Amino acid sequence: MKKHWSCNWISIILLPVILLTLLDISCAPKSEVTGKISIVVTILPQVEFVQSVGGEKVDAIVMVPPGQDPHTYAPTPSQLAAVKQAKMYAMMGSGVEFELAHMDRIEAANKHMLLIDCSKGIDLIHNDPHTWLSPRNAKIMVENIYDGLIKVDPTNEEYYVNKKYEYLLKLDKLDKEIEARLVTITNKYFMVLHPAWGYFARDYGLEQIAIHIEGKNPSAQDIVNLVQKAKEHNIKVVFTEPQFDTRSASTIAKAIGGTVVCIDPLAKDYIDNMYRVLDALVKGMH
Ligand SMILES: [Zn+2]
Repeated sequence: MKKHWSCNWISIILLPVILLTLLDISCAPKSEVTGKISIVVTILPQVEFVQSVGGEKVDAIVMVPPGQDPHTYAPTPSQLAAVKQAKMYAMMGSGVEFELAHMDRIEAANKHMLLIDCSKGIDLIHNDPHTWLSPRNAKIMVENIYDGLIKVDPTNEEYYVNKKYEYLLKLDKLDKEIEARLVTITNKYFMVLHPAWGYFARDYGLEQIAIHIEGKNPSAQDIVNLVQKAKEHNIKVVFTEPQFDTRSASTIAKAIGGTVVCIDPLAKDYIDNMYRVLDALVKGMH
């Protein structure tokens, strides 16, 4: 009992300090450095989504940096330290390997962070994590990000809702333009190195033929089969991505007397990039 009382005496002095510390954690949603709310995302295109809705109120931190492959990348200690400061993590939620392998560790680094699933409401294709490459899915992702933002920062709801509608209009315009321009293409087959364009193909009535099968480079026999397939479908362009070794694509392109054209599934300027992708597809298909 005596010991108990002496402990309490210390508590009386320490309690206000503890309370202030707790208050500081729960009432300080903003980064001490920038004054902005920090939101973590997995891949670069999500940076544009978060930044478009959050504007000047938020800072988007990306886990898989430019040039890295989200199928194999692992977070660095400094990235995990940045997660500790975040208010929200906008997960892809579509089975991106980075999240499957590291989300537990990321969650453990910051238990106070709100986790949202960008894929909520998207009709997922089995084993295809590349949801963001259809602008129709991007619209759903933006809605999910908005729902999270108004939870972590309800005072700025009006600001976020206006920004969101502005960006959704741009995505709508992109969607309509893709539809209008791809409708003129009669040969719906296109060949890609990495099967990133399944959702895009589904939404715009195209058929994707991928060189990589289950994430692996093709064997010599696979290449023979792919060359035959490309000839069958009168394919003239093989689309590659900057994140992968393009030798197999070049071999196939050479064998069909075609060319290799690079399109980027992970560019940070999502909408502008999708217009570049559209131009490349329209030019390379017929
Ligand atoms: Zn991929």
